[in-house]
Amino acid sequence: MKKNGNLIVISGPSGVGKSTLVNRAMAELSDLRFSVSCTTRSPRAGESDGVSYYFLSEEEFSRKLANDEFLEHAGVYNHRYGTLKSEVINRIVNGEEVLLDIDSHGAKQIRQAAEKDPVIKNAAVFILIAPPSMKVLTDRLTGRNSESAEQLKIRIDGAANELRSFRIYDYLVINDDLETAAAELINILKSIRLRTANIREELFQ
Ligand code: 5GP
Repeated sequence: MKKNGNLIVISGPSGVGKSTLVNRAMAELSDLRFSVSCTTRSPRAGESDGVSYYFLSEEEFSRKLANDEFLEHAGVYNHRYGTLKSEVINRIVNGEEVLLDIDSHGAKQIRQAAEKDPVIKNAAVFILIAPPSMKVLTDRLTGRNSESAEQLKIRIDGAANELRSFRIYDYLVINDDLETAAAELINILKSIRLRTANIREELFQ
């Protein structure tokens, strides 16, 4: 094994089409592993435990937090979410490429973890998926008709905050046209595989 795996952190506000883009990338790059997060929210239709998320009670989540099992964790829209170290660390050391779909608070925590841990530092790459404008995002969220006016405002304010953190990311993909954005994301992921950062010293020995 000459290389550690990459740790790909992808964020983007709700309504930006992030899940669609991530699914497209996962279909194209078959050896990319999705890190299954823990959450205290309830499963939606079509979601199953251990695949979409590990669905935990508040108590179970708190227990894992107290046991220092999370690489990062954050509260998003009244629920708690967290990435388990066990989903990430051994895998990247074993050369597997892991993708995290997490919010910007979580992304900042991974940046901080990278300051202390060279394995994470060499592996982590940060990508933000953004809408072409706040107006387009607001129209998309309003058009979904799935939230109350109050919920909608919380999501729009949260999105604006997340987008203002764009400088913590290495790459920005603007999802105006889905095909273009999917191609850009896949190209970024392919070039990440050619970075020298995670190649081990012994490569040419
Ligand atoms: P949803 O509940 O719609 O699946 O996700 C809501 C938000 O939580 C998304 O922005 C998603 O990226 C974020 N999220 C999902 N899992 C995690 C996680 O493990 N950590 C953090 N910080 N955010 C997460």
